[in-house]
Amino acid sequence: MDEETKLMEGFVEAEYQASVIRYAKAIPVADALKSDYAAAVLKASRMWRLKDQGGVPFLPIYDEMTEAHLQQRDRLLKRRIFKASRYDLPALGRVVLFAVGNTDNRYACDSYFQRFGVGETDKGMRIMSDYSVCVDCCGVGCQTCAGGWIFVRGRVIKLLGEPLEIHRLDEVEDEKYAAAHALDV
Ligand SMILES: [Zn+2]
Repeated sequence: MDEETKLMEGFVEAEYQASVIRYAKAIPVADALKSDYAAAVLKASRMWRLKDQGGVPFLPIYDEMTEAHLQQRDRLLKRRIFKASRYDLPALGRVVLFAVGNTDNRYACDSYFQRFGVGETDKGMRIMSDYSVCVDCCGVGCQTCAGGWIFVRGRVIKLLGEPLEIHRLDEVEDEKYAAAHALDV
């Protein structure tokens, strides 16, 4: 899963750098498209293909930094990558699912927050699905979710059978999510 993991690590880094640039200074609206922020977003976008979304969405651009921006800047985190699970699926072929944390240190930065699916798309290997963790069952599966996760956007991934390979890349610190982290899915 080295290639997929490298892509996910690259995305997490690029996404973080884009946010750091965005919240470091005001970017005049007139300059937005030729700013270093736009370049950083483009870099992250090259790893992302969620069906109709070719790129990573721009965060709002403002002419001046506000107190809210400064607070946001102080909360930024690079996502942690907790678990990678490789599947071979009839509809999609080889897919690796990555359980990751949040980018805002107020919420779920030390535990499961989202799950991204990485696989082959018409643009090559990309992030092609986005699920959020079910907060009712903390990722173990319940009646309101499909196996602990709720579809957000991109390709729907129907899991059949066990994963072929699992790598636990980081420890989950929030005990509520330890059960999901221990599952072999
Ligand atoms: Zn659930």
